[in-house]
Order: sequence, then structure tokens, then C-alpha cells
Amino acid sequence: MNAPAANTWSAYPDARGRFGDYGGRYVAETLMPLVLELDGAYRAAKGDPAFQAELDDFLTHYVGRPSPLYFAERLTAHHAGNGAKGGGCARIWFKRDELNHTGAHKINNCMGQILLARRMGRTRIIAETGAGQHGVATATVCARFGLPCVIYMGATDVERQKPNVFRMRLLGAEIVPVTSGRGTLKDAMNEAMRDWVTNVEDTYYLIGTAAGPHPYPAMVRDFQAVIGREARAQMLERAGKLPDACVASIGGGSNAIGLFHPFLEDDVRLIGIEAAGHGLTSGQHAASMTGGRPGVLHGNKTYLLQDDDGQILDAHSISAGLDYPGIGPEHAWLKDSGRAEYRTATDMEALAAFQECARLEGIIPALEPAHALARVGEIAREVGRGGDVVLNMCGRGDKDIYTVADALAGHADHPAETKL
Ligand SMILES: *Cc1c(COP(=O)(O)O)cnc(C)c1O
Repeated sequence: MNAPAANTWSAYPDARGRFGDYGGRYVAETLMPLVLELDGAYRAAKGDPAFQAELDDFLTHYVGRPSPLYFAERLTAHHAGNGAKGGGCARIWFKRDELNHTGAHKINNCMGQILLARRMGRTRIIAETGAGQHGVATATVCARFGLPCVIYMGATDVERQKPNVFRMRLLGAEIVPVTSGRGTLKDAMNEAMRDWVTNVEDTYYLIGTAAGPHPYPAMVRDFQAVIGREARAQMLERAGKLPDACVASIGGGSNAIGLFHPFLEDDVRLIGIEAAGHGLTSGQHAASMTGGRPGVLHGNKTYLLQDDDGQILDAHSISAGLDYPGIGPEHAWLKDSGRAEYRTATDMEALAAFQECARLEGIIPALEPAHALARVGEIAREVGRGGDVVLNMCGRGDKDIYTVADALAGHADHPAETKL
């Protein structure tokens, strides 16, 4: 694929919602008027200073932005002395989005979309959720604005994610277990789309990652780009220069594109880390770009995990939030054009990095950013001494402690335990 001119990356997608070959609007006729209306409403809101001011106010006083940019000194020292030829590595900085209200980056997007839904006069909010993190963030903003909230969740996930189901109910949301297909995230997304077509008049569909038909990938990216805008200004203030590399974990790709986007036209390496689960050759992973191929799902063309017949495969990751068989279309385009790089980390590597971060920095990360933490040492050594690497700490680990406890109990001889 031909890459665009260096200074035009951030102008994408085009008017049809395409990032090169990816993205677009692959939706049923009945959905088309809805996505077009949403597109118009979003473009108007984006250009309206009053909308931006209202959003900024809630991001400051409700979400808790800006999040700090923290120099991870002990982790840097650890990696500098860890197998480096001649010693030394770049400084590692954490963008602390785990300190947001509800403990992750998802609230940035939910706040933006609920303000848009209100502006559009919508009175009922629907969403899909897999692990439940997006469901919790959606139920949170619905409670704040007094709007009824219906969350579609695969029946298997309802069973697996009981604490988040309880949280959503506490916040006043109705959970609809979806039994079609395998009862996981992609089935919940199909069901939410069906609801949206049926309840056109009053309903707003709040998508949780930078995927779906246009304008969702661009809109979710814009709402998450506050991460990268802040990180850029904070690096300039703290180090007097831009970082050399930005690193983030990849599920559907929203926290990563949020960090990357304000750096697209700079000489900054952008590196996304996909979940390799039990390993890329095991067939049990969530690395849709590294281990998948292009196809159409949920209204957009992108990289997908699929079998030889084009059937979508279930993703696996120890981190429920990375467990999505697709990827936002902008990442597919950044990968093919070479502007961003994508690597992977396995469950075991993420587990080791999770414990390392807790002990070296006093920060228990979510298992999602633990995948980025698993690769940040090698990246910091590649960049080298005097350089700077920003890692998006997109969520806190409280939700994951039982998963980690189970995994460690099942691996008594796990190398991570002897290493620390
Ligand atoms: C949901 C989630 C992710 C994955 O989603 P993206 O859209 O790829 O950001 C990553 N980290 C955390 C903490 C999450 O809750």
C-alpha cells in the first residue's frame, strides 16, 4: 500500500471513512441512514467550541484529567542493566491513564459519546461489552446523566465476568445476555447493532473501541487522542523534546490510537503490542494483525482472526480486554504502510511484566498494559541511552488480581516467580 505524504497522516480517514483499503461502512441498508446521521452530528460537534468546552470540563472534574506523565526510574534502571550491550537504555515514562475515574482509558470515549448522544436528543443508550470494562464505563456515564442503559454481553462472558456484571447493575444498567454464536463479544456486537436498527428513534449505540462503521473509528480515536495530546505536551515540558517511541497494548486499538495519533506526523516510533496468548502457533491468541488477515466485521474492513472459510475465530488472551478478534481499521492501515509497528507478547510474558511493574514501581498494572510492559525493555534498549519511551498505562490491575493469582497457582514453576 502507498503511504500518504508525511504531513497528511492525521487527515485520515477520507470522506467515506477509509484509511487506505480499510475502514468504510459495510452495513445493512437499514443502518445506513443512522451512521450517516451520526457522522453529521459528530462533525458538527467536533467543530463546536461549546461541545469541546463541555467535554473538557467533564474530563477535568469527573474523569480526573490530565493524567500524569511519570518517569519509571526503577523500571528504566532494571532494563538498562538487563542484557544491554554496553549498558544503558532509553528512559521509560508511563502515561498514567489508570488513574482515571473507573480505572482505565475507556471513560474518555464514553464521556465524549454520551455528550454527543445528549446533543442528538437520544434518550436511551446501548452498548456491547466483552470483559465488562466498556460496559462499566458506559453504565457510569449513563448514571451520571440519568439515561437508561442496556448492555449486550455474551452469555459466556456474563458468567466469566461476574464482578463487572454486578458493578453495571449497581450503576443501574440492564444486562442482556446474548446466547447466539459462542456467546462472546462479537455476538454481543451483532445483537447491539440489531437493537440499534430496531430502535432508531431514541437509541444511541455507544461503541467501546476504535472499530465499527465510520464514523466510529475516527470518533473514538478523537476522544482518546486526549491521551497523546497530553503526553506530547508533558514530554516537551519535562524533557524539552518529543519521545523517541510510544508503546501501547492493542485490543480493538483505542488506547493505542489515542496515544499514537498526535504523534503521527512526528519522527516518533509508534509500537502496538498485540496479545499472543498461548503463542502465535497455538491458535489461541488475539493477535489479529500479526496472525490474521483482512476481512469485514462489524461494519468495517480490517485485519481479523479467521479460518480458511472466513469464519471469525474466537480470540484468546489472559487479558479479557485484549480478547477481540479484530482491530480498528486505522491500525490495519498504519501497519501496512509501515508508519506503526506491531509486536506481540504472550500470556506468560504479560504475567511476568505485571509482577515486575508491581514490585519495581509500586503500580499494579492491568493485564492489558502488562503486554506493553513485556516489550518495553527491548524497545528502550533499541532506542538507547538518552532516548525517551512513553508507555500507555491504560488501566489499573485491581480487576485482574484473581486471574493473576489463578495463573500463578497453575504455574508453580513459572519463571516470573523465580525471577523476582
Ligand atoms: C478495553 C481495554 C483495552 C483494550 O481496548 P483498546 O480499544 O485496544 O484500548 C486495553 N486496556 C484496558 C485497561 C482496557 O480496559
